[in-house]
Amino acid sequence: MAVFETPVLIVGGGGCGLSASIFLSNLGVEHLLVERREGTSHLPKAHYLNQRTMEIFRQHGVADAIYEVGCPIEKFGKVRWLTSLGGDGPLDAKLIHAMDAFGGGSLRERYEADSPVMASNYPQLRLEPLLKREAETRAPGAIRFHHEVESWQETPDGITVTVRDRSADEQHTIHARYLIAADGGRTFAPALGTVMAGPTDMVDMVSTHFSADLSQYWDDETLITWFLNPEGQDSWGAGAMVQMGPTWGRESEEWVIHFAFRPDDPERFNEEQIVPRLRSLLRLPDLDLKVHKISHWILDRIVAQQWRYGRIFLAGDAAHRQPPTTGLGLNTGIQDAHNLAWKLAEVVAGRASDAFLDSYESERKPVSTHGADWALLAFMNHTVIDAGIGLTPGAPVEVNTQAFHALFSDTLVGAALRARAEACLNTQTWEFQAHDVEIGFSYADGALSADGSDAPPRDPSGRIYQPTTRPGHRLPHSWIERDGQRRSTHDLTGHGQWALITGPSGEAWIKAAGQVGQQLGIDIVAVTIGDRGDGDHSASDYIDADGAWTAVRGIADAGAVLVRPDNFVAYRAADAVADPQTALTEALSAILAR
Ligand SMILES: Cc1cc2nc3c(=O)[nH]c(=O)nc-3n(C[C@H](O)[C@H](O)[C@H](O)COP(=O)(O)OP(=O)(O)OC[C@H]3O[C@@H](n4cnc5c(N)ncnc54)[C@H](O)[C@@H]3O)c2cc1C
Repeated sequence: MAVFETPVLIVGGGGCGLSASIFLSNLGVEHLLVERREGTSHLPKAHYLNQRTMEIFRQHGVADAIYEVGCPIEKFGKVRWLTSLGGDGPLDAKLIHAMDAFGGGSLRERYEADSPVMASNYPQLRLEPLLKREAETRAPGAIRFHHEVESWQETPDGITVTVRDRSADEQHTIHARYLIAADGGRTFAPALGTVMAGPTDMVDMVSTHFSADLSQYWDDETLITWFLNPEGQDSWGAGAMVQMGPTWGRESEEWVIHFAFRPDDPERFNEEQIVPRLRSLLRLPDLDLKVHKISHWILDRIVAQQWRYGRIFLAGDAAHRQPPTTGLGLNTGIQDAHNLAWKLAEVVAGRASDAFLDSYESERKPVSTHGADWALLAFMNHTVIDAGIGLTPGAPVEVNTQAFHALFSDTLVGAALRARAEACLNTQTWEFQAHDVEIGFSYADGALSADGSDAPPRDPSGRIYQPTTRPGHRLPHSWIERDGQRRSTHDLTGHGQWALITGPSGEAWIKAAGQVGQQLGIDIVAVTIGDRGDGDHSASDYIDADGAWTAVRGIADAGAVLVRPDNFVAYRAADAVADPQTALTEALSAILAR
């Protein structure tokens, strides 16, 4: 039996665990990752990588690898509702509605202004191998697939874990200081007795991954199409179909179609019926297709009531599971890993105390609870769409056929029905334009020093993001310049580096940051960002070329914003203070629980 020592053990080689490994490597934290499967997942699963996730991947040097192979925004910035793909009946192949989504089309300018990067789309069955390669490159020998955690025990200074190497059929012991349970909720949470609060077993989502040539019927911008037809199924029951690449747009070779079943419906396991049903739904009776895999996914909306158990931290699906709507599942898991990784780095390096790690739960649990609620809201709202177009699930086909004829009729009633449908369908911006849900979340309680200001009101529709430098919020992105080179404010931090941003009169803060950084052993880069508009700020480290930073910075020329390595604001002083060194020392000591 081999015995290994490591500061951090990650259990689970899915999207969350592999991301945690990449982040820890970049932060210089030695670790091991064990995954019981031999390889990465063969199921298509999640695919949408929102802007916040791509900002994180950019910070960690993974974004370019994803953009190179992922779907460009031009080819996934739209969703549609159709009656069918093919067919020549009067109600076939009719467009009910199309909507710009994920930052594409008319949304693009606003999304581009708020972040240095756009969202991407890359199915999990291809993303996981990419992340595995990136993790292995950064930590050779530390990513151990086909290794299963069998048991564990806490010790006074860490946790002792028994792992089976399934290839060699040998047991190993790993002593770790901390453990990230990114195990999808399969091992640790059940054994720890974690209460997963919220509704479970809502729907059995049956996902069919197949190859087919649909280039004649698809377009070049749509990621997801819902099929609504008079057969009386509601929108989830009728089917939602997603392009899967690897070629993007209408030439996509692979697709996934999701059918929702009640968890007690015996038909959900009738897999022979899936292909005929798919052909019939699409009105393509002779479609030549090859099924790769049919998988079942039970939809829950559950959040762990406790995220930390001594040395163990739940992350990703282990801590929260929600409907796929708004695509927050995997994204939230990657963001959990990002939040936890830099905090573990501070503690392992001795710059923060163990108590500092409590901020992981106090920050991430409320955010993921809101995300889970939002996903459920968007999921349930599909019933509003059905009602809005006049579809009555379960009603006789003739009744719904009549409703569809009325909807498309060239009459005043038809126009009224189409206006109603549009109004109802537009409420689904909750799912497809959830820009503020994706990047506007904040931490009320955690590793931050509140400044007594109120949070800006949030858009109840989840769309419009309000940038703010208030502590606990994501640092607003602005383009700044130095020596003719453009950088994002986000580029000031990362890889364990904090940033202190001040204005043209902030020399005292710059000096204080240098002293405090040295005194506490923290890597703080201190910069001034000057406004090109009013006078000579050539002494500033960066120029706010388009005035965007000045508009959102929320401080005077002599104020300061202290930003954490994960690009969240830790502390803010609206203006000069009498003793910036003491102010910073006190803020950082409190934040790091020293
Ligand atoms: C069939 C299916 C379809 C989905 N479709 C969508 C979708 O369309 N959209 C969407 O947003 N989300 C979807 N999801 C959810 C999304 O895939 C998850 O949110 C995401 O995979 C979570 O990543 P994770 O790394 O936290 O957990 P997981 O991907 O579950 O990874 C956990 C890993 O831990 C490993 N593990 C568990 N116990 C042990 C142990 N004792 N020792 C070692 N390893 C262990 C497991 O083998 C697993 O590989 C789907 C999920 C499923 C199952």
